Amino acid sequence: MHMDERDLKTLDKMYVWHPYTQMSDWLGMDAPVIVRGDGFYLVDEQGNRYLDGIASMWCNVWGHSRREIVDAIVEQVRMLQHSTLFGLSNKPSIVLAEMLIRLARGMGKVFYSDDGSTAMEVAVKMAMQYWHNRLSSSNERRREIIALENGYHGDTVGAMSIGYIEHFFKPYEPLLFKVRRVPSPYLYRKRVEMSDADYVQYCLDALEHELKSSEGRVAAVVMESGAQIAGGAIVYPDGYQREVSRICRRYGTLFILDEVATGFGRLGSMVEYIAQDSMPDIVAFGKMLTAGYLPLAVTLATDDVFNAFLGRYEERRHLFHGHTFTGNPIACACAVANLRLYESEGLIPRLRDNAMLMARRLEEFKRYDTVGDVRHKGMLAGIELVKDGKQALERLVDGRRINYAIAEEAIRRGLILRPLGHIMLLVPPLAIGREELDMLMDKAMDVLDAVSRLAR
Ligand code: PLP
Repeated sequence: MHMDERDLKTLDKMYVWHPYTQMSDWLGMDAPVIVRGDGFYLVDEQGNRYLDGIASMWCNVWGHSRREIVDAIVEQVRMLQHSTLFGLSNKPSIVLAEMLIRLARGMGKVFYSDDGSTAMEVAVKMAMQYWHNRLSSSNERRREIIALENGYHGDTVGAMSIGYIEHFFKPYEPLLFKVRRVPSPYLYRKRVEMSDADYVQYCLDALEHELKSSEGRVAAVVMESGAQIAGGAIVYPDGYQREVSRICRRYGTLFILDEVATGFGRLGSMVEYIAQDSMPDIVAFGKMLTAGYLPLAVTLATDDVFNAFLGRYEERRHLFHGHTFTGNPIACACAVANLRLYESEGLIPRLRDNAMLMARRLEEFKRYDTVGDVRHKGMLAGIELVKDGKQALERLVDGRRINYAIAEEAIRRGLILRPLGHIMLLVPPLAIGREELDMLMDKAMDVLDAVSRLAR
């Protein structure tokens, strides 16, 4: 059946429930229906082209329809679409696991799942069971988790429990397990006024205090690696993550890192924990693992963690977790092709030029009174919009909410943006060319200009 674009929009509003969306507002909106990807652009049914300024929720690497990846997917679809890892193996999942272990220094095993939330859910289960399996009177007491303020790890119940974006998770509170919470180094909005260096120390001291006062009850400390993106593009100050890693060692607790959004180049390095001179016991990757083409995520563990799961069958030490699509061959073949491209295209060294271009262009953004803070690392930028000092800019004089206004103004200029409330987020596909990146920054500046004019 042929449907014109109006039909699709109508049907969408009748039947589709969109994520993180106030659906009563959605009914009055006119968002494009995307029908095609073309390089770094998304194309709607009328042929309008939009630069993908959010890398399709922070996961796109090569732009859309990259031949090598599409070919790998098609070839695998022809060969084997799905077969389970329950009692069987498949070639792409083995090849990919070896590649990942080579990249992720210190890790020994790869556990597959479908998305970042489940990869983090698995990470937390592994940590709990690690201590459970190593039964001894003191280890039995390690049941608690320490997580950071402003953290985000996904939307399943465990991932929400360790996450902290209050208004997201409030309705689900009765389901969530309690965690000990420590401040994150959000230097623009410190809890206590002091110098940046002192505040980093304050955050580290708070963590150490929790570990001390918990008297050996903490199973794991969990945080995003390199930056908290959903929490507001909060880029960690140099040395912070390294110190957290050391503190975890000192107190004998596991250290879980979430590289779902920050690994594979988003912050300029292939593996962020290595760049940060830190060493997790468990680490999760997702999003860019498949270049943003198919759902796949992984949880990697050290040999020490893995070995705690070995034993006689009757001891029930095995990891009780698995999904229908765990280790799906198509997704794994896609990831293998993607990682080969990283290598053959020298993507990581190439990112430096793009990151420098972003840094240079972001200087222009700082001239606006509405810009309170600009945070940038690699291919991630967060521009925090404020009024009357540091107050979050929430509405414009025309009554529009700032997040809606930014998205609308961007669409009007052929750009896709999805801000985090009053924080404008720029997350370009990693391999974007200089010309297109420049254009993306031009358009984003125009959006900033338009909303800033209506800010009072
Ligand atoms: N962890 C981090 C750091 C994320 O940013 C996200 C998603 O944005 C997730 C986990 C959840 O990943 P997914 O949306 O694939 O479940």
